Amino acid sequence: MPKYILPLLGYDYDGLEPYFDAETMEIHHKKHHEAYVKGLNTLSSSVPESISLHELLSGLLKNDAIDENDKSILLKFGGGHYNHSLFWQFLSPKSSKEQISKILMERIEKDFGSFTTFVDSFNKAAVSVFGSGWAWWVYDRSSKSTKIMISKDQMNPIMEDSNLVCLLGLDVWEHAYYLKYRNQRASYIEAFWSVVNWEVVSRIYEERILNLLPLEVTNDGYIVFD
Ligand code: MN
Repeated sequence: MPKYILPLLGYDYDGLEPYFDAETMEIHHKKHHEAYVKGLNTLSSSVPESISLHELLSGLLKNDAIDENDKSILLKFGGGHYNHSLFWQFLSPKSSKEQISKILMERIEKDFGSFTTFVDSFNKAAVSVFGSGWAWWVYDRSSKSTKIMISKDQMNPIMEDSNLVCLLGLDVWEHAYYLKYRNQRASYIEAFWSVVNWEVVSRIYEERILNLLPLEVTNDGYIVFD
């Protein structure tokens, strides 16, 4: 079976202050993400070493070839490792809307009408998650357009539909915001827009999506770029 490792963040724990606080970032990364990595490393030896996490998660819900216990591990911990590995890279201390590439902004305007409407739709979805889960902005390879989705627990949209590619995601589990924002999830969601790494999002769109490449994450938690 493959061996999974907790990635390093590309910034300090206090790098996203005052939007995301250092204590939450440290616990979220060192304790929560580490627990998903640990759980994922209990996959059975029937999982081949060479298979990528993305391949394991794509269409997972309909994959009957995989052992039920491994499927349960992948749903919880595989999703946890993939989602968090993406999430850390969706964030940046040097966030700026200016980093949104021209072609990505055209995509947003085509699919949502305006950037403001896009943000409003994402925020509504993120607020609407009942209990623990994620809000996602995904590209659908079948309709060749983007949309907002939510997922429960550590599920990722690709588990249901392998035509989907994550462009951006926000963790709305309470562990992601409760120390600083308490029950005010909407304030945490608002703060998120001040730390989005638009360089990475633009790169996923232009390099992975437009070139029909999968959004792979290495076993040690880094997005695969050329
Ligand atoms: Mn989390």
